[in-house]
Amino acid sequence: MRPCLLVLTIGLLQQEWVGTHGYRPGQALMLWKRLYGNNIWAHSSEDLEGLNKDFKNMLSEHAEFKAVSLKDIVTASDGTKKILFTLEDGLVVETVVIPCPSGRTTVCVSSQVGCAMNCQFCYTGRQAIIFIKMGLRRNLTAAEIVEQAVFARRLLTSEVGSITNVVFMGMGEPLQNIENVLQAADIMVDEQGLQFSPRKVTVSTSGLVPQLKRFLRESNCALAVSLNATTDEVRNWIMPINRKYNLGLLLGTLREELSSKHKFKVLFEYVMLAGVNDSIDDAERLIHLVQDIPCKINLITFNPHSGSQFKPTRDEKMIEFRNILAKAGCTVLLRPSRGDDQMAACGQLGKPGELGAPLLRVPAQFQAALEVSV
Ligand code: SF4
Repeated sequence: MRPCLLVLTIGLLQQEWVGTHGYRPGQALMLWKRLYGNNIWAHSSEDLEGLNKDFKNMLSEHAEFKAVSLKDIVTASDGTKKILFTLEDGLVVETVVIPCPSGRTTVCVSSQVGCAMNCQFCYTGRQAIIFIKMGLRRNLTAAEIVEQAVFARRLLTSEVGSITNVVFMGMGEPLQNIENVLQAADIMVDEQGLQFSPRKVTVSTSGLVPQLKRFLRESNCALAVSLNATTDEVRNWIMPINRKYNLGLLLGTLREELSSKHKFKVLFEYVMLAGVNDSIDDAERLIHLVQDIPCKINLITFNPHSGSQFKPTRDEKMIEFRNILAKAGCTVLLRPSRGDDQMAACGQLGKPGELGAPLLRVPAQFQAALEVSV
């Protein structure tokens, strides 16, 4: 199989690829700028204007320019677009482009097909388990991740304005695919590459502690942690990864690692589930849990999906929760749902298979909350 150029960082392109075919590092840089820069986003050797003819011939013979093919684009009533890509092996992955009236447009990329984490509130994690461990089909390659952002730029820049932010919050647990995610993020923030500011590329995790440490040490991109609970009891249930890396370990690691990272703030994501994690006691515990961790907190409206046992917290209750945190000095934002009429919203990506990942036993004190909206 011919190697896909989008998997290579500039260093690898120069040394290990263009060099081995007998061409100069300068030619690799010219190629790199046509792959990612100056609104070219080359999709084939025909898009490589200005490059030496032999070099172009060599590329069309030995290299692949794309790792994914466009399958479909659906647009939600709020302008959010869900792009479906087919991969070489026929699997389908989803990417979401979220325009914002303030001029900021975000592309949300997937890092795996499916997900093994089995977060109980998430649609992606509830997918088929045929041949697979829980809901995970496979990791995406760096090329398949990078191309989601390149493709979104190529297709949609004229329609939605230039894409300013990347979030790794699509299908999958990015840090379970850390090698490829680090490589893809490097390409995205390269000054000669896709040129995103590292502060505007955010990798989100459910809390894989060893990989989280490695990410903080090796990448200068932003980190989001999906927190969603203030006690181990609730988090063990709704995010089973907590049974391995509990709240104390997760937050203790962040406290320690961030103490040496200048001006770095972690983003805590908190999906609000009626009667489960939205009480005044939860708000007070959350203030205590994040103490001394440089952070922002996003309170996220839960997006219901078919088969979901949870219900969204009412708006007034979310505002009350936000106000308690803000009064205690936390930086806190309410994040409305985007794209939910086309299943393009957070936690709604993917297509359920015949068998879902298992639902876990609901602790007795929360059974009523799942039956009756609070
Ligand atoms: S919330 Fe993220 S980590 Fe959890 S199951 Fe869904 S995709 Fe996986």
